[in-house]
Amino acid sequence: MDDHRDDKYKETELDQKESGTEEKKGDDSGSDYEDVCFICRRPESKAGKMFKLPNNICVCDDCMHKTMDTVSQFDYQGLLNNPNMGDLNGKGFPNISFVNLADLQGDGGIPNKQKPKKKKKEKAAEIDIRDIMPPHKIKQKLDEYVVGQEHAKKVMSVAVYNHYKRVATGTMDEIEIEKSNMLMIGPTGCGKTYLVKTLAKLLDVPLAIADATSLTEAGYIGDDIESVVSKLLAAADNDVERAERGIIFIDEIDKIAKKKNTNSRDVSGESVQQGMLKLLEGAEVEVPVGANSKNAMVPLATVNTRNILFICGGAFPDLDEIIKQRLNKKTSIGYSAELKDKYDKEKNILSRVTVEDIRKFGMIPEFIGRLPVVFTLEGLSRDMMVQILKEPRNAILKQYQKLLELDEVELLFNEGALEAIADKAMEKETGARALRAIIEEFMLDIMYEVPKDDNIGRVTITREYIEGNGGPIIDIRSRSAEHPDRLKVVQQPVIGS
Ligand code: ADP
Repeated sequence: MDDHRDDKYKETELDQKESGTEEKKGDDSGSDYEDVCFICRRPESKAGKMFKLPNNICVCDDCMHKTMDTVSQFDYQGLLNNPNMGDLNGKGFPNISFVNLADLQGDGGIPNKQKPKKKKKEKAAEIDIRDIMPPHKIKQKLDEYVVGQEHAKKVMSVAVYNHYKRVATGTMDEIEIEKSNMLMIGPTGCGKTYLVKTLAKLLDVPLAIADATSLTEAGYIGDDIESVVSKLLAAADNDVERAERGIIFIDEIDKIAKKKNTNSRDVSGESVQQGMLKLLEGAEVEVPVGANSKNAMVPLATVNTRNILFICGGAFPDLDEIIKQRLNKKTSIGYSAELKDKYDKEKNILSRVTVEDIRKFGMIPEFIGRLPVVFTLEGLSRDMMVQILKEPRNAILKQYQKLLELDEVELLFNEGALEAIADKAMEKETGARALRAIIEEFMLDIMYEVPKDDNIGRVTITREYIEGNGGPIIDIRSRSAEHPDRLKVVQQPVIGS
């Protein structure tokens, strides 16, 4: 009998070794994650020190006491009198189920993904003002990736700089620095998301991107508003301190505008704006760790949004009409009514936007008030599209050139080809988003055919190829060697002169 027990013990020990849990048991304090109570799912930071049970199961003080109380008040006599008691096949214990410890696989039944990270003991996480990148450096970095949008890049650089200065100094001083949450307005595909993504990457802060249309007030079907914070926490690897300095980008914010001309209560738009006010300003929110929704089985972490930078973006269709109306009204009051349509042709009318226009569009004043930095992005012109194709650090053309370079084939695009691609993209009216799809379509044949023939040394994409009137120029290897100038873009020969 004893032997048998010994064997069993050895087996469990081995199992634990294999799953690597034995080591963990020894240096629990070395783990990056907090212990989470198996019963109430509160982390150590909330529930206090845990009782450690076998298999890395932790139970907090409260739950342990409750369990003890329940056990001591249990009607054992009644249980013994229960006629089902005799049935040892398990039916005898109504409402009681047993946890199979073997199912828990040594992580206490709660994977790390669902545990908040421990707060660091020393405050190494503090930001030093001298470490914050100054605005001109931020803009310089953005320039490497984002074409045009000079004004937007400048405003964002300054706002981000101020934001992190505010985070670094705290708000204990007499002069409280206002939060630099932003509202960016610009047509689809002009680089709003891309700007924010690039910014987060170069600042090395976590970023969560959410779509305003999917957000609903708590209690309705959809993601509740606080789920954006939960996303950010996931992006920060469950590290609450890191998340508290991250960026949340909420796209399509114009879709939660108040509906015009309705008297009924508007659940979808206005109330979501209302619901976001607290978050934008700074609030403590309890968010589920490692899951999208709160439920009894998911541990919660408290995240303070005071230092989270919120950036909202949207295309705001028809906002230009509202601006024009306002400007026209001014003109007709002032001088002569002939100038009434003088703004109709103005290209960048959006840049004249005021808070009043945005309110008229349907955003509530309290909401706009919490996004003090408002700026617009311009729609992309054909020239900008051409630049986007070839200039950014990770430009699409550079990516294809790199791919073919690995086959020792040089890929060139002449200016005419780039213009033709840009023209096609302009027609689609989805901004730069169309570029990749168009190029992929044209490059498919090339990427398929070129590796077939080792003699091909250079491929030049021409306007004719893009417009469907001809093919690309293929140079075989011996000839391409005669051209030592490895130009990336060759000028289109002037036709007809
Ligand atoms: P939106 O303004 O709708 O958020 P995105 O930022 O998602 O548009 O743009 C789509 C893609 O187009 C980006 O991933 C990026 O590759 C490219 N792009 C858009 N605008 C620019 C720009 N100004 N400079 C460089 N690339 C851009």
